[in-house]
Amino acid sequence: MEITHKVAQSAPTTTIPRRTRPPRLDWTAIAPSVAQLRRQGCSARETARRLGLNIKTLEAHLRRHRIRHAIPMDRPDQVRRTCLNCDTAFVADGRFLRLCPECRAMFS
Ligand SMILES: [Zn+2]
Repeated sequence: MEITHKVAQSAPTTTIPRRTRPPRLDWTAIAPSVAQLRRQGCSARETARRLGLNIKTLEAHLRRHRIRHAIPMDRPDQVRRTCLNCDTAFVADGRFLRLCPECRAMFS
């Protein structure tokens, strides 16, 4: 018997920390709080403020998270959008909706 696939896939462990970057955050500890605040209807900005996070850091996290937990679309005319105002992912009923329901309510 012969094992054909590669076993030794050594991931490079030498990651040089860049000075311009803030210290790495422990997302396993932060993510539940983020998810909770988001469920309560907090925008990315509000969530970042409450948790004392940098908004850019949180946005980057949410973006990564969204790819893994993409919102399923149940109608063909629905469009997956990212809110222009708060960067929240949402499913719009049409191509021209660029704000999430929360922000739409806020602006109208
Ligand atoms: Zn929004």
